[in-house]
Amino acid sequence: MHRLGVLGWPVSHSRSPAIHNAALAALGLSDWHYQRLPVPPALFDETVGALGAAGFHGANVTIPHKQAALAVASEASATARAIGAANTLTFGERGEILAENTDAPGLIAALGFPVRGRSAQVLGAGGSARAAVWALLDAGAEPVWVWNRTPERARELAGDLGAEAATAPRRADLLINCTSVGLSVERSATEDGALNQLRLTGDQIGEYSHVADLVYRSGSTPLLAAAHNRGVATTDGLEILIAQGALSLEGWTMLPAPLEVMRAAAAIDR
Ligand code: NAP
Repeated sequence: MHRLGVLGWPVSHSRSPAIHNAALAALGLSDWHYQRLPVPPALFDETVGALGAAGFHGANVTIPHKQAALAVASEASATARAIGAANTLTFGERGEILAENTDAPGLIAALGFPVRGRSAQVLGAGGSARAAVWALLDAGAEPVWVWNRTPERARELAGDLGAEAATAPRRADLLINCTSVGLSVERSATEDGALNQLRLTGDQIGEYSHVADLVYRSGSTPLLAAAHNRGVATTDGLEILIAQGALSLEGWTMLPAPLEVMRAAAAIDR
């Protein structure tokens, strides 16, 4: 049995097992299985160190472990090192742990068009914003603006990666939401409530040519709903999750990921 999993805390909400198990079945890999691995931070290093011997070939890593995943690895890709976080681990036969970051190339793949020469406004300055800013700059987007509720974090991220900090969201070709605004229906019950938290109005959303929201949940997010209502092209968080998961799966299995199967498995109530 080849075992795969997703390390997180909590991880009960993750769609990754459904997506990956559907993909493994479609690839005919009947002796592979992907599972949730709920691990509290205090046990992360110890657990990861034991996974290879327990039959795990690899694992995805989600909140709050992405920086710890890079730190525990014995080798890391240039992308993971530049971003300072890993979302994919591969366990070698001699106990080595390889760290990769597929969040960055996954975002660019999910957008599905060249971003070179386009301007981008990233919202947020947490882990996913760091990967998004690095990915956009690496793919040639310019300028890349970073706005965050806590401005010092935007300045720090922008300074680290060579982007521009913005005191309010700027007009740009692309708008990429990397905050958790819109995740909770209660906190952002209305479209306006969510947009207020992002210092944007519906009319401003209509001025971007493409809006991507990393947040995924049942139904549309307030940001994507605002974009749809104004005829703006969008990329949703599930498509981004599928794209980064597909790159992880291809790294583990060396087979092309069945994207349509993964989309169908993810899209229960999309
Ligand atoms: P994180 O490191 O915890 O960062 C959270 C960000 O959201 C921070 O910039 C924070 O601002 C901002 N924020 C939180 N509440 C806010 C509010 N009420 N108003 C304005 N800003 C607020 O989280 P992350 O790992 O970057 O993830 C962010 C979101 O992306 C999550 O919902 C996660 O599920 C999603 N995500 C999706 C994918 C995918 O594949 N689709 C991948 C990764 C993450 P402050 O700095 O001011 O606190």
